[in-house]
Amino acid sequence: MGEFDLIATYFKRPVRQAVLGVGDDCALLQPTPGTQLAISSDMLVEGRHFLSTVSPERLGHKALAVNLSDLAACGATPRAFTLALALPRVDAAWLAGFSKGLLALADAHGCELIGGDTTQGPLNICITVLGDVPVMNGKSQALLRSGAQVGDDIYVSGNLGDARLALEVFRGHQQVPASVFEQARLRMEQPTPRVALGQALRGIASAAIDVSDGFLGDLLHVLQASQVGARIDTDIATNLIAVRAGSTWASAGFDPKMDDARALRWVLAGGDDYELVFTAAAADRDQVAQAAAQSATVVTRVGTIEAAPGIRLMDGHGKSVSGHFPSFDHFQS
Ligand code: ADP
Ligand code: MG
Repeated sequence: MGEFDLIATYFKRPVRQAVLGVGDDCALLQPTPGTQLAISSDMLVEGRHFLSTVSPERLGHKALAVNLSDLAACGATPRAFTLALALPRVDAAWLAGFSKGLLALADAHGCELIGGDTTQGPLNICITVLGDVPVMNGKSQALLRSGAQVGDDIYVSGNLGDARLALEVFRGHQQVPASVFEQARLRMEQPTPRVALGQALRGIASAAIDVSDGFLGDLLHVLQASQVGARIDTDIATNLIAVRAGSTWASAGFDPKMDDARALRWVLAGGDDYELVFTAAAADRDQVAQAAAQSATVVTRVGTIEAAPGIRLMDGHGKSVSGHFPSFDHFQS
């Protein structure tokens, strides 16, 4: 199968909302009146961003999910994406699985594949996603990293640390029952982008980011952009790992024999979570709760924005917690 048959078979579908989709030199999109375009790219490299053991279907899902997660962090509504793909060889079963996972998530979010590029080479997947953000009274409704204010609450969506748990099992550093591993692995290989939550938080959250490299590291980006600091309650944070959060894992009787220090490390610096971290004024707690309910997403308040730069970790009794929680850095790990 040649390049053009491959594109036609796995990636070309009837155009939906685009003016022109796959097949010409450019795709054409009609801008939505009263909006700005939100644009983001993410590349996935084998061994770096995924293990060779992942199924192609889950990989297709994840490649788009990490991009949708960036739109979610900005409060954008997904519209379309392009796919640049380097493949070592044409493997029909792999392509069928990959495009199935990719396009299922795309359809779930009304995000249309409008073009891309395909070449032979080491497996590499690069997606650029496009979304809309409304402009109201001349003001962009996009959520930015730079809006956190002293006194704001700090929230996290969903759970943290589950993907890291799966990675540690893969590495042979942690043992868990098979059913728990399957659930953790699902979180690592098929993350849920918090798109509905991001949109519901427009006009409510003062700042937002998605957690890809690790909670503390990504929170620090918000703090630096906003020129503020933070205090985090580590007792609450430790309970964000699903095995501690009264999840199905815990009710299945799974005791991870996980000391608090390890749980905390995975929650604070595990990475690959694709949850949203956001801030909002303490006066807006009801509105945050409504946004969470409206998007059927659990959110947990984990701390407070303070004036002094940096992050202070405190346990539930206000005692300072120390530890080293390095975030993932592609050029240092
Ligand atoms: P060109 O050589 O003009 O850049 P290509 O031959 O690379 O175009 O691609 C032909 C068409 O197929 C274009 O519309 C391009 O956007 C689309 N396309 C190429 N690869 C992909 C892909 N992996 N997924 C979706 N569309 C693709
Ligand atoms: Mg061309």
